[in-house]
This record gives sequence, C-alpha cells and structure tokens, in this order.
Amino acid sequence: ACSFYCPVGAITENSQVREVSNLLKNKEGKSLVFQTAPATRVAISEEFGMEPGDISTGKMVAAIRKLGADVVFDTNFTADLTIMEEGSELLDRIKNGGTLPMFTSCCPGWINMVEKFYPEFIPNLSSCRSPQGMMSSLVKNYWAERMGMKPEDAVVVSIMPCTAKKDEACRDQLKTEQGLQETDYVLTTRELAKLIKLNNVKFASLKESEYNNPLGESTGAAVIFGNTGGVMEAALRTAYEIALEKPMPTLNYTPVRGFQGIKEATVDFGGIDLKVAVVHQASNIHDYMQKLKNGDFMHHFVEFMICKGGCIGGGGEPKSKTGDYLEKRMKGIYKIDDNFTVRKSHENQAVKKIYEQFFGHPLSHKSHHLLHTHYNDRTEKKEQSVKGGFWKWFNKK
Ligand code: SF4
Repeated sequence: ACSFYCPVGAITENSQVREVSNLLKNKEGKSLVFQTAPATRVAISEEFGMEPGDISTGKMVAAIRKLGADVVFDTNFTADLTIMEEGSELLDRIKNGGTLPMFTSCCPGWINMVEKFYPEFIPNLSSCRSPQGMMSSLVKNYWAERMGMKPEDAVVVSIMPCTAKKDEACRDQLKTEQGLQETDYVLTTRELAKLIKLNNVKFASLKESEYNNPLGESTGAAVIFGNTGGVMEAALRTAYEIALEKPMPTLNYTPVRGFQGIKEATVDFGGIDLKVAVVHQASNIHDYMQKLKNGDFMHHFVEFMICKGGCIGGGGEPKSKTGDYLEKRMKGIYKIDDNFTVRKSHENQAVKKIYEQFFGHPLSHKSHHLLHTHYNDRTEKKEQSVKGGFWKWFNKK
C-alpha cells in the first residue's frame, strides 16, 4: 500500500477505504485499533450537512465503533506525549548548547520538505515522532503486549486530516523490530466519511461515544495541535511551567494564534527571552527558510505546518463550500480547548501514568526507542550542517 502520495492531496488520494472496509467485515482474528487526529473532529461534520467547526468528537467515535472497530484511541493522547518529549528536548538543547532553532516535527509535509530541500537543517528537527507515529508505536509495542496480543494482531487504522500521513506511515524508521509497519492504514477525514456513508451509518443522529483508555485521555493542549500555532502554544504551556515552576500568566497565548503566515513572539523565560516563531503554508515556509539562511532572524523554537491554518486545512479534510470554513474549524478547536478542565499536557493523568509505569521519564532510553526517530538527506547534494550557527548568532547579541 506504500506508494506515491501527494502531501496536500492535490494529485491523487491513494485510498485504502476498500482494504479497511474488507478488514472490518472480516477481521481474521485481528483487533482493529483506530486513532483519530485532532483536526478531524471539527471537520467531519461538514460531510454530513453540518457546519464547519461543529464539534463531532463523540459522534465520530460512535461511527467508528458502529463500523466495527474494536478500540478507538485518540491521537490527542500522543499529542500530549509529544509535548512532554519535545518540550524536554527544547529545554535540553537550550541548557546544553544543542542545535537551535529547534523545529517541530509533527507535520510530514514539512519533514519531506526539509529532507528534500533543506537537508542542512535536519539537525534542527526535533527527533520526536509525530503524534500518529507515537500512537502506532505504542499500540504495537506497548498496548498489544499488555493485551496479550502479538504486535501483528493489533491493526492500526489512522484517521488523519492529511494525505502526507499516508506517506509518513511508510517510512522505514517507523517499523517495529520485526519489520512491521506500525501504522497499517491511513484514511483521511473525507475517506472516513465515505466509509460511514457506504455503511449507511446515520452520523448526525448517533449517540456520542467516548475513546478507549488508557490511550484515549487527553487535554486542551493536545487538541490545539489542529490549528497553526497550536503545537507551539501547547509546548509553551508545559515548558514554561517545567522550567520556571509556575504556570504561564495566561494559557491562551494569542501571539501564536491566527492566520498570519509567519508569527513571531518572545516569551520571558525567567532570564532568557525565548524567541519563537510559527509558520504555516509552503510559500511562507520557503520565505522563512530563506530569511533564516540569510541570518535575517533567528528563534529558539519554530513550528512549521505545510497547510494553511495547520491541519484544519489539510488535504484530506472535507472540501468545504463556505468561504470561512477554516476560521470556523479554528474556532471549533479553541472551543474544545476552552471546555477542557485540564489544558496542559503534563497534567494528563494517563500520560503521567505511562511515564511512571513504562517510560520512566521524558527522553529516557525507552522513549527514545519508541517515541523518537531520525531523518535522512533525500537530495543528491549533501550540505554542511548548521549546528552551532545559532550559538554564534546568540553570542553576538
Ligand atoms: Fe498534514 Fe497539513 Fe497537518 Fe502537515 S499541516 S500534518 S501536511 S494536514
């Protein structure tokens, strides 16, 4: 199933609807484990006549159960885990003179861009897998064992806003020790809607259902991964509190919100002015990278998302007919965050437990093995790493 995928779904959507549909009808003794990404829950409703931004989390989970899934986990759980790992990685790089600026790594379209066009910046990428990659790894290498199952008997089906996630699922780095692809199938939000329609499930009238635990618990910080600026805001909520031992003055960090192509902000990190940037859409990313190469600006931490607005604008989301659908989806995401009692990743109780019982602590040997990854120069030309460039600039200030 791993062949060419266009990152933004413009050329073709290599659909696995038929394979997943067949598997749901004949499981052959396998357990079908679904995971759903943050941005899916504010967009799938559009396929069923509802408004963009309508929050359909419970109905989406109910529909997936109705289709025959055995377990439905939330990719938001691993978004929280990403923050624990990525926030710790950032603090570690700042403390120990690591490569800066550190770049987020959860958007596979962006990862492809770095590997193909900016390989000299590979050391700047966080080594964290995307939340999809982390969840699939946990299902195959942690959950299956706890359920007394072989990894190959837990089949992971991801529901993503994005066709580039199909490409990510095929990466050699994201295979089990036995060589199994950790994410077995990826369906876009639109493809899930198609599957629901094919099975005559009446989405709008479904009674809401909840995710399975322990990999279904999440926070407001996780859901904002769906919006441009969300990963940054979630990371700041946690990194600030861990570094300064007090909460950020406000959880709604507005300088990184909204549709501006390149957003910059400075956070007082107790003596250090932490400089951050958020960039979305390929053209803005190329602009940013050009300016970064020219030394026009430099930040400690930068979030990159290939799609306009972040994952809410992903190539696999419904093709909405209203002009303001992105604004509405964005509002829906922030509404979910506002409604959560727990809005910081490090306060996710299930995340705390998995560290206590399994990983030990962020950046542990085990978490490096199962939650982190590496990247390859995929150009002909291998350029020199920019490691150290940040510190030269920083020390000049
Ligand atoms: Fe996929 Fe777009 Fe989100 Fe990147 S920004 S992960 S390409 S939906």
